[in-house]
Amino acid sequence: MKIDRINLNRREMLKAAAAVGATGATATLGLSGCSEKKSTVAQPVLQGVKGKDGNIVAPWSNWSGNQTSTPNERLIPQNTDELSSMIKQTTQHIRLVGAGHSFSGLVPTNETQMSLAYFNGITDINKEKKQFNVASNTFLAGVGEELWNNGLSLENMPDINTQTFGGAIATSTHGTGPNYGSMSSTVKEITLVNGLGEEIVCSDNNNSELFNAARTNIGTLGAVTNLKIQAQDNYYLQEKSWMMDLEEGLEQAHALRDSHRHFEFYALPHADYILGIAIDKIEEKDLLGPTVNSGDAYETFKTMSKVIDTLPFLRRFIINTGASTVEEEVRTGRNYEIFGNVRDMRFNEMEYSIPAEHGVACLREILATIRKLNINVIFPMEYRYIKADDIWLSPFYQRDSCAISCHNFADKDYKKYFAAIEPIFWKYDGRPHWGKIHTLTAKEQRARYSKFDDFLQVRAAMDPKNIFTNSHINTVLGLA
Ligand SMILES: Cc1cc2nc3c(=O)[nH]c(=O)nc-3n(C[C@H](O)[C@H](O)[C@H](O)COP(=O)(O)OP(=O)(O)OC[C@H]3O[C@@H](n4cnc5c(N)ncnc54)[C@H](O)[C@@H]3O)c2cc1C
Repeated sequence: MKIDRINLNRREMLKAAAAVGATGATATLGLSGCSEKKSTVAQPVLQGVKGKDGNIVAPWSNWSGNQTSTPNERLIPQNTDELSSMIKQTTQHIRLVGAGHSFSGLVPTNETQMSLAYFNGITDINKEKKQFNVASNTFLAGVGEELWNNGLSLENMPDINTQTFGGAIATSTHGTGPNYGSMSSTVKEITLVNGLGEEIVCSDNNNSELFNAARTNIGTLGAVTNLKIQAQDNYYLQEKSWMMDLEEGLEQAHALRDSHRHFEFYALPHADYILGIAIDKIEEKDLLGPTVNSGDAYETFKTMSKVIDTLPFLRRFIINTGASTVEEEVRTGRNYEIFGNVRDMRFNEMEYSIPAEHGVACLREILATIRKLNINVIFPMEYRYIKADDIWLSPFYQRDSCAISCHNFADKDYKKYFAAIEPIFWKYDGRPHWGKIHTLTAKEQRARYSKFDDFLQVRAAMDPKNIFTNSHINTVLGLA
């Protein structure tokens, strides 16, 4: 999520919120003493295990720290031949890792962890077709400038750019915009090495069944080595963010979606405000000067959260006071500069996609539930739009969707919060993001995807020895 786009008035928000909190905190100190609450979530202590060669293999953790494992082997093939022979020779299960930005248990393994770190960079650009080939472990951040210099850009991006292409495609990673699908929907061709060590290329008219499965593969068909991506002419963007009254924002949601290239909300739990972010194409002549960055809004929310932990009865007042000071902000730039954000404040996240027409009703119900149950969370929720596609395990399969994400800080317990909200998503026929936290098993996933068994058939052919599995994969796909 990208709340750090609120640049101009974050300091004002913090000042206002902290002023309210400071007054109350002083009073509380007098009564009961005040110390920062310690996290109730246990932090893992990992030491690594002795690998097959006798050396210690370092333990692994994902970005937020909620997924950890101690692989007994780490393989980093340098080229396709080496990759192929490693797969042929393995006697263990293998899990591929990209940038480790998934919150769900897709990656952890106590057996072999494999990274395609050597498969890196753009390998070919076809200016005529506006397509490029990229090695799978290339970070999204690694292509913006090179594409730009060749007159091209990605059509859309998620709100960070530190994932790899292979990882992003594996889980249908997406941005926002009713006319734009997930990153998987921009893939034109995939090259992978399957569980038998065979290199296979697939596209719409070549191994098309495999292509339908591979565009959202959750790392279960083999190691993806190369992707051909459809780009478009490069373009500049203007981003405008502004705080709205909650009701006013929810009523305008569909109109705002339809009148901007990209539109999304950040809904503030317990508050009467909602932040809108609209992004549109502009000409070079309309670029503004650089905006002054006033700090990371995540930090702001973290500080507010600490104050609220001390003074929970002032929660709503503090957030509303802070939110009411946020003024409109506009920034412009090359598209990849506007899309990409830096995330220093760690959090955990659950996200479901529901039919676009039910988005507002679902968000209303979530906000009401948080208030009714007095759930102790202030982390903003992200609300985005994604165009339907035809990819078998895509959460956007044959339906225009609205994705709603709930977060909490990484040092706070998210389980009770997510458990209270997840059934609301089910009520609206929600499909979980494969890379984010959810509790669905194969039984429920099958009910959500008409091509679930077709995917399993292709998977069985690609990986007949079930090499690319772990316990989470077994649960979500129903493998023995
Ligand atoms: C701060 C943050 C912001 C995020 N923002 C968004 C967002 O805006 N939109 C969104 O949709 N998601 C978002 N996500 C989720 C993230 O995009 C996905 O979880 C994505 O899959 C992570 O990519 P990765 O490179 O880290 O892959 P990993 O998390 O390391 O792996 C993901 C999956 O890909 C597989 N894999 C990796 N490489 C290969 C390969 N070469 N071949 C085959 N399989 C492979 C892995 O086995 C695993 O199943 C965000 C996550 C974080 C932490």
